Amino acid sequence: MTYLDYQATTPLAPEARAAMLRWLADDGFANPHSAHRPGRAAAAAVEVAREQVAALFPPGGKVVFTGSATEALNLAIRGGPYGPAAVSAIEHAAVRDTARWFGEDFELPVGADGVIDPEVPFPDEAKLIAVMQVNNEIGTIQPVARLAERAKAAGALFLCDAVQGAGKIAPPAGADLIAVSAHKLYGPKGIGALWVRDGVHLSPVILGGGQEGGLRSGTLSPALCAGFGAAAALSLERMEQDAAHVETLWTAARDVLSRWTLNGSAEQRWHGNLNLRLDGLDVGRLMSECRTIAFSAGSACASGSGRPSHVLAALGLSAAQAKNSIRLGFGRYTTRDELIEACRTLDAAARTQGV
Ligand code: PLP
Repeated sequence: MTYLDYQATTPLAPEARAAMLRWLADDGFANPHSAHRPGRAAAAAVEVAREQVAALFPPGGKVVFTGSATEALNLAIRGGPYGPAAVSAIEHAAVRDTARWFGEDFELPVGADGVIDPEVPFPDEAKLIAVMQVNNEIGTIQPVARLAERAKAAGALFLCDAVQGAGKIAPPAGADLIAVSAHKLYGPKGIGALWVRDGVHLSPVILGGGQEGGLRSGTLSPALCAGFGAAAALSLERMEQDAAHVETLWTAARDVLSRWTLNGSAEQRWHGNLNLRLDGLDVGRLMSECRTIAFSAGSACASGSGRPSHVLAALGLSAAQAKNSIRLGFGRYTTRDELIEACRTLDAAARTQGV
Protein backbone atom coordinates (compact mmCIF):
# COMPACT_ATOMS: atom_id res chain seq x y z
CA MET A 1 0.00 0.00 0.00
CA THR A 2 1.33 3.43 -0.90
CA TYR A 3 -0.06 6.00 1.49
CA LEU A 4 -0.72 9.31 -0.26
CA ASP A 5 -3.19 10.97 2.09
CA TYR A 6 -0.92 13.05 4.35
CA GLN A 7 -3.48 15.87 4.61
CA ALA A 8 -6.01 13.50 6.18
CA THR A 9 -3.45 12.28 8.67
CA THR A 10 0.26 11.54 8.87
CA PRO A 11 1.93 8.32 10.02
CA LEU A 12 2.95 8.30 13.67
CA ALA A 13 6.67 9.12 14.00
CA PRO A 14 8.56 6.30 15.77
CA GLU A 15 9.97 8.95 18.13
CA ALA A 16 6.43 10.03 19.08
CA ARG A 17 5.37 6.42 19.63
CA ALA A 18 8.40 5.83 21.88
CA ALA A 19 7.56 8.92 23.96
CA MET A 20 3.99 7.69 24.40
CA LEU A 21 4.88 4.16 25.45
CA ARG A 22 6.37 5.35 28.76
CA TRP A 23 2.89 6.60 29.73
CA LEU A 24 1.10 3.50 28.51
CA ALA A 25 3.32 1.18 30.60
CA ASP A 26 2.12 -0.46 33.83
CA ASP A 27 3.42 2.34 36.03
CA GLY A 28 2.47 5.23 33.73
CA PHE A 29 -1.25 5.45 34.38
CA ALA A 30 -1.43 8.17 37.04
CA ASN A 31 -3.78 11.12 36.66
CA PRO A 32 -1.63 14.17 35.89
CA HIS A 33 -3.99 16.27 37.99
CA SER A 34 -3.38 14.20 41.16
CA ALA A 35 -1.16 15.61 43.87
CA HIS A 36 0.71 12.37 44.75
CA ARG A 37 4.12 11.43 43.38
CA PRO A 38 3.06 9.40 40.31
CA GLY A 39 0.53 12.13 39.50
CA ARG A 40 3.20 14.79 39.72
CA ALA A 41 5.50 12.77 37.47
CA ALA A 42 2.72 12.56 34.86
CA ALA A 43 2.06 16.29 35.26
CA ALA A 44 5.75 17.00 34.71
CA ALA A 45 5.63 15.03 31.43
CA VAL A 46 2.62 17.06 30.34
CA GLU A 47 4.50 20.29 31.05
CA VAL A 48 7.56 19.12 29.11
CA ALA A 49 5.22 18.36 26.20
CA ARG A 50 3.58 21.78 26.57
CA GLU A 51 6.99 23.44 26.18
CA GLN A 52 7.73 21.34 23.10
CA VAL A 53 4.38 22.21 21.52
CA ALA A 54 4.80 25.89 22.50
CA ALA A 55 7.94 25.98 20.34
CA LEU A 56 5.67 25.59 17.28
CA PHE A 57 4.20 29.04 18.00
CA PRO A 58 5.52 32.58 18.27
CA PRO A 59 6.58 33.72 21.75
CA GLY A 60 4.10 35.57 23.98
CA GLY A 61 1.24 33.14 24.43
CA LYS A 62 0.11 29.97 26.16
CA VAL A 63 -0.77 26.50 24.92
CA VAL A 64 -4.11 24.94 25.88
CA PHE A 65 -4.31 21.22 25.13
CA THR A 66 -7.57 20.05 23.55
CA GLY A 67 -8.89 16.78 22.14
CA SER A 68 -8.44 17.89 18.51
CA ALA A 69 -7.92 20.96 16.36
CA THR A 70 -11.67 20.99 15.83
CA GLU A 71 -12.12 21.47 19.56
CA ALA A 72 -9.36 24.12 19.64
CA LEU A 73 -11.14 26.03 16.86
CA ASN A 74 -14.47 25.75 18.69
CA LEU A 75 -12.86 27.15 21.82
CA ALA A 76 -11.27 29.99 19.84
CA ILE A 77 -14.50 30.95 18.09
CA ARG A 78 -17.15 30.19 20.68
CA GLY A 79 -15.05 31.11 23.70
CA GLY A 80 -14.64 34.75 22.75
CA PRO A 81 -17.03 37.63 23.24
CA TYR A 82 -16.70 38.58 19.62
CA GLY A 83 -19.91 38.69 17.67
CA PRO A 84 -19.82 38.16 13.91
CA ALA A 85 -16.83 36.47 12.32
CA ALA A 86 -15.43 36.84 8.80
CA VAL A 87 -13.81 33.65 7.54
CA SER A 88 -12.17 32.77 4.25
CA ALA A 89 -14.18 30.83 1.70
CA ILE A 90 -11.74 27.93 1.92
CA GLU A 91 -11.68 27.35 5.69
CA HIS A 92 -12.09 23.85 7.08
CA ALA A 93 -15.62 22.95 8.28
CA ALA A 94 -14.35 23.24 11.87
CA VAL A 95 -14.07 27.01 11.28
CA ARG A 96 -16.87 27.55 8.76
CA ASP A 97 -19.56 25.69 10.65
CA THR A 98 -18.48 27.08 14.02
CA ALA A 99 -18.43 30.66 12.74
CA ARG A 100 -22.06 30.20 11.67
CA TRP A 101 -22.87 29.58 15.33
CA PHE A 102 -22.97 33.38 15.74
CA GLY A 103 -25.94 33.41 13.42
CA GLU A 104 -24.26 35.95 11.21
CA ASP A 105 -20.95 35.38 9.52
CA PHE A 106 -19.14 36.77 6.52
CA GLU A 107 -17.17 35.01 3.82
CA LEU A 108 -13.90 36.37 2.49
CA PRO A 109 -13.41 35.27 -1.14
CA VAL A 110 -10.26 33.74 -2.61
CA GLY A 111 -8.83 34.07 -6.12
CA ALA A 112 -8.89 31.37 -8.80
CA ASP A 113 -5.45 30.34 -7.51
CA GLY A 114 -6.89 29.51 -4.08
CA VAL A 115 -5.12 32.39 -2.36
CA ILE A 116 -6.87 35.21 -0.53
CA ASP A 117 -6.02 38.80 -1.44
CA PRO A 118 -4.09 40.18 1.57
CA GLU A 119 -5.98 43.47 1.12
CA VAL A 120 -9.45 41.87 0.92
CA PRO A 121 -11.95 44.22 2.61
CA PHE A 122 -13.11 43.13 6.08
CA PRO A 123 -16.74 43.81 7.01
CA ASP A 124 -16.95 46.53 9.69
CA GLU A 125 -19.10 44.31 11.92
CA ALA A 126 -16.56 41.47 12.05
CA LYS A 127 -14.93 41.09 15.44
CA LEU A 128 -13.02 37.95 14.51
CA ILE A 129 -11.17 37.29 11.25
CA ALA A 130 -10.24 33.67 10.54
CA VAL A 131 -7.93 32.66 7.71
CA MET A 132 -6.03 29.40 7.60
CA GLN A 133 -2.29 29.13 7.05
CA VAL A 134 -2.23 26.21 4.57
CA ASN A 135 -5.38 24.86 2.95
CA ASN A 136 -6.02 21.17 3.55
CA GLU A 137 -7.55 20.41 0.16
CA ILE A 138 -5.25 22.27 -2.22
CA GLY A 139 -2.25 23.21 -0.05
CA THR A 140 -2.29 26.93 -0.86
CA ILE A 141 -0.43 29.13 1.63
CA GLN A 142 -2.35 32.23 2.71
CA PRO A 143 -0.83 35.68 3.41
CA VAL A 144 -1.77 35.44 7.08
CA ALA A 145 0.84 37.87 8.47
CA ARG A 146 -0.58 40.80 6.47
CA LEU A 147 -4.17 39.76 7.22
CA ALA A 148 -3.39 39.57 10.95
CA GLU A 149 -1.80 43.01 10.84
CA ARG A 150 -4.91 44.44 9.14
CA ALA A 151 -7.26 42.67 11.57
CA LYS A 152 -5.40 44.28 14.45
CA ALA A 153 -5.65 47.72 12.84
CA ALA A 154 -9.40 47.11 12.39
CA GLY A 155 -9.81 46.20 16.07
CA ALA A 156 -10.64 42.53 15.38
CA LEU A 157 -8.91 39.40 16.64
CA PHE A 158 -7.19 37.12 14.15
CA LEU A 159 -7.58 33.33 14.31
CA CYS A 160 -5.34 31.11 12.24
CA ASP A 161 -6.01 27.43 11.63
CA ALA A 162 -2.40 26.27 11.29
CA VAL A 163 -3.24 22.56 11.25
CA GLN A 164 -1.65 21.88 7.86
CA GLY A 165 1.29 24.23 8.26
CA ALA A 166 2.44 23.62 11.84
CA GLY A 167 5.86 22.01 12.03
CA LYS A 168 6.24 22.36 8.25
CA ILE A 169 6.60 26.11 7.74
CA ALA A 170 7.22 29.07 10.09
CA PRO A 171 4.30 29.87 12.43
CA PRO A 172 1.78 32.53 11.39
CA ALA A 173 3.04 35.92 12.60
CA GLY A 174 0.67 38.34 14.29
CA ALA A 175 -2.19 35.91 14.99
CA ASP A 176 -4.05 36.12 18.31
CA LEU A 177 -5.25 32.53 18.30
CA ILE A 178 -3.68 29.55 16.51
CA ALA A 179 -5.07 26.00 16.32
CA VAL A 180 -2.99 22.88 15.59
CA SER A 181 -3.45 19.11 15.60
CA ALA A 182 -0.90 16.45 16.57
CA HIS A 183 -1.93 13.90 13.97
CA LYS A 184 -1.07 16.20 11.06
CA LEU A 185 2.53 16.51 12.20
CA TYR A 186 3.36 12.84 12.78
CA GLY A 187 1.89 12.75 16.28
CA PRO A 188 -1.08 10.80 17.69
CA LYS A 189 -4.76 11.33 16.95
CA GLY A 190 -6.95 12.60 19.80
CA ILE A 191 -4.99 15.69 20.79
CA GLY A 192 -4.74 19.25 19.50
CA ALA A 193 -3.86 22.62 20.94
CA LEU A 194 -4.97 26.21 20.91
CA TRP A 195 -2.30 28.87 21.28
CA VAL A 196 -3.70 31.98 22.94
CA ARG A 197 -1.79 35.24 22.76
CA ASP A 198 -1.14 36.79 26.20
CA GLY A 199 -3.90 39.27 26.99
CA VAL A 200 -6.59 37.51 24.91
CA HIS A 201 -9.39 36.35 27.20
CA LEU A 202 -11.53 33.35 26.37
CA SER A 203 -14.38 31.64 28.19
CA PRO A 204 -14.43 27.85 28.40
CA VAL A 205 -16.69 25.86 26.10
CA ILE A 206 -16.26 22.64 28.12
CA LEU A 207 -16.93 23.02 31.84
CA GLY A 208 -15.96 20.66 34.64
CA GLY A 209 -12.83 20.11 36.71
CA GLY A 210 -11.13 23.33 35.62
CA GLN A 211 -8.07 21.81 33.96
CA GLU A 212 -6.00 23.80 31.46
CA GLY A 213 -6.37 26.98 33.46
CA GLY A 214 -10.13 26.53 33.49
CA LEU A 215 -10.28 26.79 29.70
CA ARG A 216 -10.68 23.11 28.91
CA SER A 217 -11.88 20.78 31.60
CA GLY A 218 -11.14 17.08 31.38
CA THR A 219 -8.27 14.81 32.40
CA LEU A 220 -5.32 15.11 30.06
CA SER A 221 -3.68 12.01 28.61
CA PRO A 222 0.05 12.11 29.42
CA ALA A 223 0.67 9.60 26.59
CA LEU A 224 -1.03 11.81 24.00
CA CYS A 225 0.66 14.94 25.32
CA ALA A 226 4.08 13.25 25.29
CA GLY A 227 3.52 11.95 21.75
CA PHE A 228 2.42 15.40 20.58
CA GLY A 229 5.43 17.03 22.25
CA ALA A 230 7.91 14.59 20.73
CA ALA A 231 6.33 14.96 17.28
CA ALA A 232 6.43 18.76 17.52
CA ALA A 233 10.09 18.77 18.61
CA LEU A 234 11.01 16.42 15.78
CA SER A 235 9.13 18.50 13.19
CA LEU A 236 10.98 21.63 14.24
CA GLU A 237 14.30 19.81 14.20
CA ARG A 238 13.62 18.37 10.74
CA MET A 239 11.76 21.30 9.19
CA GLU A 240 14.32 22.07 6.48
CA GLN A 241 15.08 18.43 5.79
CA ASP A 242 11.38 17.52 5.52
CA ALA A 243 10.69 20.51 3.25
CA ALA A 244 13.59 19.60 0.97
CA HIS A 245 12.34 16.02 0.76
CA VAL A 246 8.84 17.23 -0.11
CA GLU A 247 10.29 19.41 -2.91
CA THR A 248 11.98 16.36 -4.41
CA LEU A 249 8.74 14.40 -4.21
CA TRP A 250 6.71 17.25 -5.72
CA THR A 251 9.05 17.57 -8.71
CA ALA A 252 8.99 13.81 -9.32
CA ALA A 253 5.19 13.54 -9.09
CA ARG A 254 4.57 16.62 -11.27
CA ASP A 255 6.90 15.16 -13.85
CA VAL A 256 4.93 11.91 -14.14
CA LEU A 257 1.55 13.68 -14.00
CA SER A 258 2.51 16.58 -16.27
CA ARG A 259 -0.66 16.27 -18.38
CA TRP A 260 -2.92 16.70 -15.32
CA THR A 261 -4.15 20.20 -14.37
CA LEU A 262 -3.13 21.51 -10.96
CA ASN A 263 -5.89 22.96 -8.77
CA GLY A 264 -4.61 26.06 -6.96
CA SER A 265 -1.37 27.99 -7.10
CA ALA A 266 1.79 26.00 -7.81
CA GLU A 267 4.06 28.52 -6.12
CA GLN A 268 2.16 29.74 -3.07
CA ARG A 269 1.67 26.22 -1.84
CA TRP A 270 2.87 23.50 0.50
CA HIS A 271 4.33 21.11 -2.04
CA GLY A 272 3.26 18.00 -0.13
CA ASN A 273 -0.22 18.58 -1.58
CA LEU A 274 -0.93 17.76 -5.19
CA ASN A 275 -4.58 18.38 -6.06
CA LEU A 276 -5.06 17.57 -9.73
CA ARG A 277 -7.78 17.06 -12.28
CA LEU A 278 -8.28 15.45 -15.65
CA ASP A 279 -11.37 16.32 -17.69
CA GLY A 280 -13.75 13.37 -17.79
CA LEU A 281 -11.97 11.38 -15.07
CA ASP A 282 -14.20 9.02 -13.09
CA VAL A 283 -12.55 9.28 -9.67
CA GLY A 284 -14.66 6.54 -8.08
CA ARG A 285 -13.53 4.12 -10.78
CA LEU A 286 -9.92 5.25 -10.42
CA MET A 287 -10.07 4.60 -6.68
CA SER A 288 -11.52 1.14 -7.11
CA GLU A 289 -8.95 0.25 -9.78
CA CYS A 290 -6.02 1.57 -7.75
CA ARG A 291 -6.73 0.00 -4.39
CA THR A 292 -3.07 -0.27 -3.45
CA ILE A 293 -2.82 3.52 -3.35
CA ALA A 294 -4.44 5.43 -0.48
CA PHE A 295 -5.48 8.84 -1.83
CA SER A 296 -8.51 11.13 -1.69
CA ALA A 297 -11.11 12.30 -4.14
CA GLY A 298 -10.58 16.04 -4.60
CA SER A 299 -14.31 16.66 -4.70
CA ALA A 300 -14.99 15.60 -1.11
CA CYS A 301 -14.09 18.22 1.48
CA ALA A 302 -13.54 15.54 4.10
CA SER A 303 -13.01 11.87 3.40
CA GLY A 304 -16.31 10.10 3.57
CA SER A 305 -18.30 13.23 4.45
CA GLY A 306 -20.07 13.20 1.09
CA ARG A 307 -20.17 17.00 1.12
CA PRO A 308 -19.02 18.58 -2.13
CA SER A 309 -15.82 20.59 -1.93
CA HIS A 310 -16.51 24.24 -1.10
CA VAL A 311 -12.81 24.88 -1.72
CA LEU A 312 -12.77 23.85 -5.37
CA ALA A 313 -16.06 25.73 -5.83
CA ALA A 314 -14.47 28.86 -4.30
CA LEU A 315 -11.72 28.64 -6.94
CA GLY A 316 -14.43 28.84 -9.60
CA LEU A 317 -14.23 25.20 -10.66
CA SER A 318 -17.44 23.65 -12.01
CA ALA A 319 -19.04 20.74 -10.18
CA ALA A 320 -17.79 18.47 -12.99
CA GLN A 321 -14.21 19.72 -12.67
CA ALA A 322 -14.34 19.17 -8.91
CA LYS A 323 -15.58 15.63 -9.52
CA ASN A 324 -12.65 15.04 -11.90
CA SER A 325 -10.13 15.95 -9.17
CA ILE A 326 -7.95 13.88 -6.85
CA ARG A 327 -5.70 14.83 -3.94
CA LEU A 328 -2.30 13.22 -3.45
CA GLY A 329 -0.58 14.03 -0.16
CA PHE A 330 2.94 12.96 0.71
CA GLY A 331 5.64 13.75 3.23
CA ARG A 332 8.43 12.58 5.49
CA TYR A 333 8.03 8.83 5.03
CA THR A 334 7.12 8.79 1.32
CA THR A 335 9.91 7.54 -0.91
CA ARG A 336 10.50 9.02 -4.34
CA ASP A 337 10.37 5.59 -5.96
CA GLU A 338 7.04 4.58 -4.42
CA LEU A 339 5.55 7.95 -5.35
CA ILE A 340 6.70 7.72 -8.96
CA GLU A 341 5.35 4.19 -9.17
CA ALA A 342 1.98 5.24 -7.71
CA CYS A 343 1.70 8.24 -10.04
CA ARG A 344 2.45 6.02 -13.05
CA THR A 345 -0.22 3.56 -11.90
CA LEU A 346 -2.79 6.34 -11.49
CA ASP A 347 -1.98 7.87 -14.86
CA ALA A 348 -2.14 4.51 -16.63
CA ALA A 349 -5.49 3.72 -14.96
CA ALA A 350 -6.82 7.13 -16.07
CA ARG A 351 -5.74 6.38 -19.65
CA THR A 352 -7.75 3.16 -19.63
CA GLN A 353 -10.78 5.44 -19.05
CA GLY A 354 -9.89 7.24 -22.26
CA VAL A 355 -8.92 10.45 -20.45
N1 PLP B 1 -8.30 22.30 10.07
C1 PLP B 1 -7.69 21.76 9.02
C2 PLP B 1 -7.08 22.64 7.98
C3 PLP B 1 -7.65 20.37 8.88
O1 PLP B 1 -7.04 19.83 7.82
C4 PLP B 1 -8.24 19.56 9.87
C5 PLP B 1 -8.28 18.09 9.73
O2 PLP B 1 -8.55 17.60 8.63
C6 PLP B 1 -8.83 20.18 10.98
C7 PLP B 1 -8.84 21.55 11.05
C8 PLP B 1 -9.43 19.38 12.10
O3 PLP B 1 -8.41 18.75 12.83
P1 PLP B 1 -8.72 17.57 13.88
O4 PLP B 1 -8.75 16.31 13.11
O5 PLP B 1 -7.59 17.60 14.86
O6 PLP B 1 -10.02 17.90 14.52
